[in-house]
Amino acid sequence: MSLSKQLIQKLISITGSTHAYTDLQEQISFLEEPRNKFFGKTPLVLQPGCTGEVAAILRLANENNIGVVPQGGNTGLTGGQVPDNTNTQVILNLSRMNKIRDINPQNNSVTAEAGVVLATLQATAEEVDRLFPLSLGSQGSCQIGGNLSTNAGGTSVLAYGNTRDLVLGIEVVLANGTIINQLGTLRKDNTGYDLKHLFIGAEGTLGIITAATLKLYPRPKSIYTAFVGLDNPDKALKFFNIAKNDAGSMLTAFELLPVIGLEFSLRHLDGSRDPLTCKHPWYVLLELSISTGSVDGALLIESIFERAFAQDLLNDAVLAGSIEQSRQFWALRHGLSEVQRAEGGSIKHDISVAVSDIPEFLERALKAVEKAIPDCRPCPFGHMGDGNLHFNISQPVEADKAEFLARWEEINSLVHNIVIEMNGSISAEHGIGQLKREILKQAKDPASLRLMHILKKSLDPNGIMNPGKVL
Ligand SMILES: Cc1cc2nc3c(=O)[nH]c(=O)nc-3n(C[C@H](O)[C@H](O)[C@H](O)COP(=O)(O)OP(=O)(O)OC[C@H]3O[C@@H](n4cnc5c(N)ncnc54)[C@H](O)[C@@H]3O)c2cc1C
Repeated sequence: MSLSKQLIQKLISITGSTHAYTDLQEQISFLEEPRNKFFGKTPLVLQPGCTGEVAAILRLANENNIGVVPQGGNTGLTGGQVPDNTNTQVILNLSRMNKIRDINPQNNSVTAEAGVVLATLQATAEEVDRLFPLSLGSQGSCQIGGNLSTNAGGTSVLAYGNTRDLVLGIEVVLANGTIINQLGTLRKDNTGYDLKHLFIGAEGTLGIITAATLKLYPRPKSIYTAFVGLDNPDKALKFFNIAKNDAGSMLTAFELLPVIGLEFSLRHLDGSRDPLTCKHPWYVLLELSISTGSVDGALLIESIFERAFAQDLLNDAVLAGSIEQSRQFWALRHGLSEVQRAEGGSIKHDISVAVSDIPEFLERALKAVEKAIPDCRPCPFGHMGDGNLHFNISQPVEADKAEFLARWEEINSLVHNIVIEMNGSISAEHGIGQLKREILKQAKDPASLRLMHILKKSLDPNGIMNPGKVL
């Protein structure tokens, strides 16, 4: 339904005109998204300052059947946070709701509003000698509400779980404006359905998360970051199992990179350098975090490497000698999304399979895409310890970017068919948004999909919450 001038004015009066944008120039940064695949139109962007304002906006939108697109830091990679082109959906951006409401180191909990930037929350936890472990390449911009709504993953899932595992309670506003306050700090509460999990990972299609109570952890006393060169993913898997068996939950990251990924980073990241003396086909970035004084981290990592070298799994390895060197290793990994852009078009996938199936998946998927586009440059990298890879393929050198990207769906379906055959997921951590809505219909079993539609209909009968996303 289109918005009358009168309705626009009523909506603006809720936030005040300083926090409402109707002019295209002022709206641009809310309409573009990181991959430039989707660009929507909106008559109005609103930035509410409190939960009451969010509730008032949703009540009015619901009464008038107006679509509302929740938006946090606008770093999502599936176009979930931008409206469609009909110029009928209002963007509700949560950035102004950025207060830390409470932090309690004794209870290891923090209550933050949806608009708190992830890096700010990490720093706030550090001030009270605690760790908030969620860690993403976009952490300087993405916000807690967006992290919960996408159930973000990142580089610490191996030890701490996905965002869902870090949440004690949430405050959420339903489509009709009802506020559900479940901000408890309890670690145990079996009083019926655990409703928070409905909204976590729902990508704004069931309600708007306005605040969350999150878990904090002891800060590691020492961190060991290593960069390792090896021959193939099979050896990486065996190395992973040694590290996981020996270090348990102290193994906090296990990231896989192909040599082409390292070369892209070295070519395009200022000040980067190869941590090892010669090239290897694959690399692992591994991190151990030691929180207890009773474990000698140096001895532990030494014994892991000894065992792996003895089994001929590794070609070379280097341990970061300083925090700065560890940061440099991580920059090579975190820069991978950005540096691929400098290499032209890139067809992307965000898949997961069982950790033990990673070598087979890579073998099959690499064969399939190289057969389809012989000179393409696959750059699969990511969270191997979680079975999650960003199976990205850069265009052949000097190929036409538009022609290459026109094959996006064909290549997606080649790769996704392999994923489905291997009982994997076509979206491990980035969600569905607009990008994977059609694929979801093939990938999800029909009974689960029907249940998702029933839940959507009962929580949002007028379909105003983030229309056209996920379902
Ligand atoms: C360089 C880079 C690296 C990244 N690395 C990772 C990674 O390692 N792991 C990973 O999982 N993701 C990663 N991402 C993707 C992205 O950063 C995450 O999905 C992040 O959680 C999105 O947060 P956001 O605040 O930017 O949300 P947005 O992009 O603004 O929104 C994302 C979705 O959540 C909904 N939403 C936002 N706020 C709310 C709210 N308060 N209530 C209800 N719905 C809401 C939106 O409607 C949309 O559907 C990366 C992105 C970039 C650009």
